[in-house]
Amino acid sequence: MARAALIDHYRKLLPLTHRTPVVSLMEGFTPLIRAPRIGEIVGAQVYLKYEGLNPTGSFKDRGMTMAVSKALEAGAQAVICASTGNTSASAAAYAARAGIRCVVLIPEGKVALGKLAQVAIAGADLVAIDGNFDEALNLVRDLSDRFPLALANSVNPFRIDGQMTGAFEVVDELGDAPDYHALPVGNAGNITAYWRGYQAYKAAGYSRRLPVMLGFQAAGAAPIVLGRVVDQPETVATAIRIGNPASWATAVAARDESGGSIDAVTDDEILEAYQLLVRSEGVFCEPASAASVAGVIKRSKQHPFRKRDVIVCVLTGHGLKDPQTAVDCTKEVARCPAALDALAGLLGLR
Ligand SMILES: *Cc1c(COP(=O)(O)O)cnc(C)c1O
Repeated sequence: MARAALIDHYRKLLPLTHRTPVVSLMEGFTPLIRAPRIGEIVGAQVYLKYEGLNPTGSFKDRGMTMAVSKALEAGAQAVICASTGNTSASAAAYAARAGIRCVVLIPEGKVALGKLAQVAIAGADLVAIDGNFDEALNLVRDLSDRFPLALANSVNPFRIDGQMTGAFEVVDELGDAPDYHALPVGNAGNITAYWRGYQAYKAAGYSRRLPVMLGFQAAGAAPIVLGRVVDQPETVATAIRIGNPASWATAVAARDESGGSIDAVTDDEILEAYQLLVRSEGVFCEPASAASVAGVIKRSKQHPFRKRDVIVCVLTGHGLKDPQTAVDCTKEVARCPAALDALAGLLGLR
């Protein structure tokens, strides 16, 4: 028998009613991959929660299945979101699935190519605004107040509810919560959702403990670390290029209640971890996702982990989302005549 949709599987812990029309692309149930080489570097047991394997290639699908299902239940004919890319790719797909309109506002020129391609082909109304993500989010909040458009950003509480399922899956697979849970922080919805998810699962009796939450922002877009809004956020990790996170207060609560931290990693550290992940573990994620591993490596040098510590790093989006950054990090393709000897020589075969 086919498995249940993600939010049906966990419906006891989610605000679904028997009338909610579940809109699903069979998201979730992503693999938790052991990362022995990164574990060696940080001196602990490291697992990668590979969220790039969701239907539209990022964890946003966990929240979107919930948000679009609830929007449809409420009679919505359209959804709207502002996006650094992955929210819009997800909203466009789930709106198409639901048969409703999708309007997407993106900050001009700062969205990775794979994400733009997804939104465009899914038939969403795509508008690039001459401003950054934070300005785009303010506009869609105002539009959804004035017009009948359901807001699909993570300020929609159903997004956070759906994203709690990531924590449920980690506990189901490990048998309990990990010692540490590391993830990138942008608009801060996901750190809020994972922390709530771990708490809800423990309260329901599925786990005995809670993890320490480790959030990581890009150094050029680190408002929570700095304690102030960043007006011109800049980073290669475009998915976390956010200067005024909507879920700021709940991210700080997750940090403090779990005894964790929210720290910054530089673009160089992010790009190093990004390449390390695919070259040493074979797991290709987008740059923002690698902030989790970059952060754990950085922390291991300051506060060594114990060998038996279990660390889950969420790899939030697929590497193919941002092909340009991958190509920019790679050496040029070697050229060679189509001849055996020349090729063997070039490859150093003898
Ligand atoms: C959205 C996103 C993030 C940031 O998540 P927030 O909930 O905004 O903190 C990180 N990485 C990727 C790939 C994303 O799409």
